[in-house]
Amino acid sequence: MLLSEERNLIVEYGRKLIASQLTTGSGGNLSLYNRSENLVAVKPSGVDYLLMRPQDVVIVSPEGEIVDGDLKPSSELKFHLALYRHRADVNAVVHTHQVYATTIACLNWELPAIHYLVGFSGDKVPLAPYATFGSQELSDHIIAAIGHYNACLMANHGLVTVGNSILPAFAVAEEIELVARLYYQAKCIGQPVILPESEMEIIVEKFKTYGQRR
Ligand SMILES: [Zn+2]
Repeated sequence: MLLSEERNLIVEYGRKLIASQLTTGSGGNLSLYNRSENLVAVKPSGVDYLLMRPQDVVIVSPEGEIVDGDLKPSSELKFHLALYRHRADVNAVVHTHQVYATTIACLNWELPAIHYLVGFSGDKVPLAPYATFGSQELSDHIIAAIGHYNACLMANHGLVTVGNSILPAFAVAEEIELVARLYYQAKCIGQPVILPESEMEIIVEKFKTYGQRR
């Protein structure tokens, strides 16, 4: 089967999205770009994560033409493909409606450096202005907002994260949910203290070599 490894990862990490409560039902989506094959594996539209099978995953060209698959690709395919074009370092895109990050996005706020773990994104999580889901406008807003960050809030919608593989892209979504929750909770009882830019520069640098990556 074409891109069988990527299909399995889409199924596996789709289930993790549900288990980690980063999305519900068939909401959100994820894709992987195999740059040597020049093909993208993407979640099919409207399929429940817990029922999705590897053969349901849709394989498309970087231009969005279906190469293999009977189902329709995710309605957000446009911004996934735009991110792969925009960022040569990105091979995985995760989009969620995770509750705390989306709460911040519904206020049309960015997520500041209230906790050093925001470094999974950069010195903050930027915000892309609202546009209808699946639209070219939404894709353009995300590309303009995300820059070199690994996460971007989508106003009145959710979050998108990127990584050089699915593991870091998923980790960014998980960690940003924690930071968004801390920001919400801190705001409830006081005025959160934001880490200075100079400290976030150190954190972002440290994160580049964090963990097992060499
Ligand atoms: Zn969405």
